[in-house]
Amino acid sequence: MTSKSAAAAARATVYGYPRQGHHRELKKAIEGYWKGRVTADALRSTAAELRRNTWRHLADAGVHEVPTGDFSYYDHVLDTTVMVGAIPERHRDAVDADALDGYFAMARGTQDVAPLEMTKWFDTNYHYLVPELGPDTVFTANTAKQVAELTEALALGLTARPVLVGPVTYLLLAKPAPGAPADFEPLTLLDRLLPVYAEVLADLRAAGAEWAQLDEPALVQDRTPAELNAAERAYRDLGALTDRPKLLVASYFDRLGDALPVLAKASVEGLALDFTEAAAANLEALAAAGGLPGKRLVAGVVNGRNIWINDLQKSLSTLGTLLGLADRVDVAASCSLLHVPLDAAAERDIDPQILRWLAFAKQKTAEIVTLAKGLAQGTDAVTGELSANRADLASRAGSPITNDPAVRARAAAVTDADARRSQPYAERAAAQRAGLGLPLLPTTTIGSFPQTAELRVARADLRTGRIDTAGYEERIKAEIQEVVSFQEKTGIDVLVHGEPERNDMVQYFAEQLTGYLATQHGWVQSYGTRYVRPPVLAGDISRPEPMTVRWTTYAQSLTDRPVKGMLTGPVTMLAWSFVRDDQPLGDTARQVALALRDEVNDLEAAGTSVIQVDEPALRETLPLRAADRPAYLAWATEAFRLSTSGVRPDTQIHTHMCYAEFGDIVQAIDDLDADVISLEAARSHMQVARELASHGYPREAGPGVYDIHSPRVPSAEEAAGLLRTGLKAIPAERLWVNPDCGLKTRGWPETRASLENLVAAARTVRGEL
Ligand code: GLN
Ligand code: ZN
Repeated sequence: MTSKSAAAAARATVYGYPRQGHHRELKKAIEGYWKGRVTADALRSTAAELRRNTWRHLADAGVHEVPTGDFSYYDHVLDTTVMVGAIPERHRDAVDADALDGYFAMARGTQDVAPLEMTKWFDTNYHYLVPELGPDTVFTANTAKQVAELTEALALGLTARPVLVGPVTYLLLAKPAPGAPADFEPLTLLDRLLPVYAEVLADLRAAGAEWAQLDEPALVQDRTPAELNAAERAYRDLGALTDRPKLLVASYFDRLGDALPVLAKASVEGLALDFTEAAAANLEALAAAGGLPGKRLVAGVVNGRNIWINDLQKSLSTLGTLLGLADRVDVAASCSLLHVPLDAAAERDIDPQILRWLAFAKQKTAEIVTLAKGLAQGTDAVTGELSANRADLASRAGSPITNDPAVRARAAAVTDADARRSQPYAERAAAQRAGLGLPLLPTTTIGSFPQTAELRVARADLRTGRIDTAGYEERIKAEIQEVVSFQEKTGIDVLVHGEPERNDMVQYFAEQLTGYLATQHGWVQSYGTRYVRPPVLAGDISRPEPMTVRWTTYAQSLTDRPVKGMLTGPVTMLAWSFVRDDQPLGDTARQVALALRDEVNDLEAAGTSVIQVDEPALRETLPLRAADRPAYLAWATEAFRLSTSGVRPDTQIHTHMCYAEFGDIVQAIDDLDADVISLEAARSHMQVARELASHGYPREAGPGVYDIHSPRVPSAEEAAGLLRTGLKAIPAERLWVNPDCGLKTRGWPETRASLENLVAAARTVRGEL
């Protein structure tokens, strides 16, 4: 086929779409079902209607081939676990008794049975349920959901393509089942799993599928030769099946690297590749592999993870290049649209000029359709769309919002010295010791205290106008008083104000920074029925006025003990927001860091001698490929240091991260040059303390001795035991005593008891030194 006919055949498609509906109907129906207010039938019909609406919308918008099977009551990886029959032993009775209730039991656990573990889906903020597989796992095909959803879409007269998690990715995402050897490799089950996929594919074929999509995003990560070999085998075997739809193997979130030639050579009929900037290397690699002669290429040129409009002209030129490399080129988003909100047009409070720069799932779908049309019929067929797009891009590029000269000049003038404390750690530590006069094994908390129902009511009352700002602030002050007096009474050494004024640790700051945007309806699925509304880093960032100083100084006015200032770090601000795509991430991080630097300096000027800058997201935005990590860690650690290096040597900078595994970023943690770091450690018996020690970490650390993820109260003896373990790795002069994380999700009774025990433990162990 010549490239001309390849162009003429260009079609628009997507791999998946937001599941929740315009008014989060799915969330409401599922939560109603859990509470017994919605019947299973009502839930099923709400779900079916949402699927129908989505397909109709996609088809009306001009999408030629709609996805099926991407819908989920909770998570598509859990759906795959059901599809291959890998139900964990402990959930089998529940699943046999009632498939739907058993499904939710695996997702959420029950009174008696623990749920599957949840973890991040690659480097997105979506979380999936981790399959548990062992040497005894027996797979059996359960094709009902996939077949039913395909049948529904076909019944609407649409061309539909089932989308499945591919077998290699499914196994690579799994962990050893309880009872299996800890070093069990789920990938060794491939030969057992493939016959189940063969059955699924045969059933889909029988139900009318011309194509099926197998998603293999795990292949964009660094893979061993053995893993690549498994991928090769998987697609050789599936390709050799006779009773199957045509296969489209999809990759996204990054470049395929060494896996690209493997998949290009496989005996499947199509390949879907990410061609956004981060995965641009795919283009050259595809050409180097000899293209996809005789095959279908689905080109992910519209970014499925950001919320910005596409540069249509640029995408058309990429698509033009791709025409020479495959038999047929179709147009898609780089990944499922699950990771973006539904419809930018629903936003009422965003400046109409800025609104034109935004593309959520609905707008991205329109872009895909335009691109497919432009590719098939020539740019003349889409001149209107192209000129509107050019105007919108120009408005964004030329806007004072994205170009604040003062912010730009300041960021450009940053020197290496700005991101370094004025004295080395050892000298700072001496100055801080003298200034703060803390005992050995000082006690503190991570920042938040219980976010009580009263606090949420106060915020709601402020929103609805039932109380005014002054009334709201009185309530916040009363809460701070209570938190401070509790800590004093309990004998905690470094106090916090408790963060009662914060709805969320990122949103609170985003609302006060110029250049940040909030959305009204920009919900994206985080996990199950939990949706988040990340703020948007839309323009150049600056801080018009102090954000936290008054609350911290108010708390300080109530006590003679040091009150720790509390801020969210630049990397976490980026990680939990939608970021700009018109400048490098490092540049955005630097702007945020400078705004935070002003806040840190203002806190110090107001008399705050201990300031904590939280970076819980430092590890989660680690690039998928090891080769990309040094560059990320360089700007990330620089941004942290930039925000914290403007203070005097005797001002103590703390940071906090909440995970127990950080072996791969221990050097980066060192590079933050924070005086004190607190980390999650209670469940792993102070493992992090040993890791820091073996790295030679020279500064102070507070491995958590209180697991705040459960209402359980640790006894003083238990906390003392953890401290003694910690002391084997970290000397007493550098060991802090604190919980694993903030207390906002806890209730007051267990918080009180746990912190009293924590202080008692510190006193006991101090006595033993
Ligand atoms: N200071 C924050 C709190 O205590 C930290 C939260 C976090 O680490 N996620 O709530
Ligand atoms: Zn934490």
